[in-house]
Amino acid sequence: MSQQKNGSIAMWKKLFTSPKPSSKEKKITYIKGESVEFTHIKKSKKNISLKIDQNGLIISTPLHTDDIFINNIIEKKFDWIIKHLRHVSSQTISKSNQIETVLLLGEEYKVIPRHHSTQIDHKNKIIFCKTNEVSDVKKILKEFALQYFKKRIDSYDYILEIKPSSIQLTNAKTKWGSCSNNKNIRLSWRLIQTSSGIIDYVICHELAHLKHMNHSKLFWHEVERIFPKYKIYKKQLKDQALSLFTLD
Ligand SMILES: [Zn+2]
Repeated sequence: MSQQKNGSIAMWKKLFTSPKPSSKEKKITYIKGESVEFTHIKKSKKNISLKIDQNGLIISTPLHTDDIFINNIIEKKFDWIIKHLRHVSSQTISKSNQIETVLLLGEEYKVIPRHHSTQIDHKNKIIFCKTNEVSDVKKILKEFALQYFKKRIDSYDYILEIKPSSIQLTNAKTKWGSCSNNKNIRLSWRLIQTSSGIIDYVICHELAHLKHMNHSKLFWHEVERIFPKYKIYKKQLKDQALSLFTLD
């Protein structure tokens, strides 16, 4: 049998050997009386991911995922999707480089310019900031993040056998935390935008690395010892990570 001469055999061979192309399609679904528009990207991958950015909701799935399955996901994550779509659109409407709202500890805060002093009013969810400029808002978020992370780490002091030597902030967008050999814990300031449970999970993950510098079974036992509910927040971080950090 000569594959070179027979076009159809060559084509079949190609279908079976080369990876299938990914596809991208705009879709709309109706859930709880609201229409949800999204871009469905099919790729040769195993996991499903949801992302919300200036382009709206983007759902990436394995190649053979049907619409019923996608609808179930959207329904399950409905409240989270609507909340973040609204947040992103309010950011997009505002002038470039200026922000009207920002996420802090998983809640939407209004940014109000006030020249004489900066302050975070948690009760009324307002950030009084020098200006609405992204750089000024980031500055105040970073200051708050460092204080908050240190306080949370202190709250686990009673249970820790090994203590961190220092706490520092990073600007990382996907690596939320790290722990060095000399016990220096570094956390992305961007985490301050997510919920307190997710922040505690990342913190406890790094605190557990003080004892085990790997992701062995012993390491995960240590995470559980420090933060017994960690599994819920580990999953939430995985589901939400990319879209929670819209502030560049
Ligand atoms: Zn780790």
